Amino acid sequence: MNDYLKLHGIRKMFGDVPVLAGVELSIAEGELVTLLGPSGCGKSTLLRCIAGLTDLDSGSILLAGQELTKQPPRSRDVGMVFQSYALFPNLTVSQNVEYGMRMRGVAPAARRSRCEELLALVDLEDKRDVYPQSLSGGQQQRVALARSLAVQPKLLLLDEPLSALDAKIRKNLRAEIRDIQRRLGMTTLFVTHDQEEALILSDRICIMNQGQMVQEGSPEQLYTAPRTEFAARFMGSYN
Ligand code: ADP
Ligand code: MG
Repeated sequence: MNDYLKLHGIRKMFGDVPVLAGVELSIAEGELVTLLGPSGCGKSTLLRCIAGLTDLDSGSILLAGQELTKQPPRSRDVGMVFQSYALFPNLTVSQNVEYGMRMRGVAPAARRSRCEELLALVDLEDKRDVYPQSLSGGQQQRVALARSLAVQPKLLLLDEPLSALDAKIRKNLRAEIRDIQRRLGMTTLFVTHDQEEALILSDRICIMNQGQMVQEGSPEQLYTAPRTEFAARFMGSYN
């Protein structure tokens, strides 16, 4: 397997607690890998380390052959969507989507056409001039997705992007995210604590517990042949 993203020996302490205890993870180009694990196991911390929002203590993060830990967050080719809608409330939808491009000095005309393209992708062209507060939760997450894709990242990080939504919207957006991810061939690390979501969405699932990877495999492999008691319990117990 080609390792488009390769995490090696990722460690992070918060005080005396090893929140990331030597994480190993590889993702192939265009693959959607789900990081599945219980609340508090270190999933968000791992994503924040990849995005550069948290410094790691040791380890390396190679993305397309480049060592990310040496790059400041803004120059990492990584897009991220958070659990709760982290849109700028004082900017319109299109201003939110264009924000990252503006920061990187993309010319206004190019920004606008890329923004239109992305709003079409998430089916929100008619919302370009409204403010986030007038949108539903699902629509806000679609704007957040468009915004994270605007700078054409090499890697998309999705941190429980569906968990604040109600069931019906969650299922629709889940399918939409999968569709967009496939269409763009976007290498994606999707975080969830929801087993059903992981089984439906993923090319491959990595189960995480207490700051380490416990087992990885295809959805079928993990569901039918969990290797550890933890994986068995975790995959078996739908919530
Ligand atoms: P998850 O996303 O899997 O629920 P997190 O990565 O958010 O887990 O958190 C892992 C552990 O690290 C938790 O015990 C959490 O309380 C702790 N933690 C997260 N961020 C910080 C921080 N900034 N300072 C101290 N402890 C933190
Ligand atoms: Mg989290």
